Amino acid sequence: MPSATPAQQDAVRKDWDTYFMDIAYMVSTRSRCSRRHVGALLVQGKKLLGTAYNGAPMGVADCSEAGCMIVEEWEQRSGEAGPEMIKKQRCIRTIHAEQNLLLFTDRIDREGSTVYVTDQPCWTCANMLANSGISEIVFHRAYPKDADKVGRLMEQKGIVFRRLEEGYEPPPQAGLAVTD
Ligand SMILES: [Zn+2]
Ligand SMILES: [Zn+2]
Repeated sequence: MPSATPAQQDAVRKDWDTYFMDIAYMVSTRSRCSRRHVGALLVQGKKLLGTAYNGAPMGVADCSEAGCMIVEEWEQRSGEAGPEMIKKQRCIRTIHAEQNLLLFTDRIDREGSTVYVTDQPCWTCANMLANSGISEIVFHRAYPKDADKVGRLMEQKGIVFRRLEEGYEPPPQAGLAVTD
């Protein structure tokens, strides 16, 4: 078989966004919460400095052992006839991936770095990331609930906040365990 030309190799070679988001999705498979698998990475330049996923604190029973810890909350959504309230269930047993990433990385490594995360951060995570030294957040799946206020916060802080463009496909091994 003739070997691939450099141009052919470039065509199949993953760009950096795809490369790192694929890794974030593979990291998310470590999560034991059946409702949501989230993975997050800290990247400086092109160097991977940390990985994290959502989970219970170390040594504490996780969702697969103790079940999810469900709370119900009312959430405002824009419906056809104006805003409407919807009751939503959330699992609060886990520390979110972004928060675990902050717990397991050093401030000095975070200064000017990029966070890749499979899901758009919630308000609490976004608020913490905004104060963590990072300068860019790249996510894939949307999280509409907090999107407006998180977007405004990132703009105020001057943190680049972007969603991977249409056409990105997570690696098939990562599955799609998300319940909203
Ligand atoms: Zn759970
Ligand atoms: Zn969060």
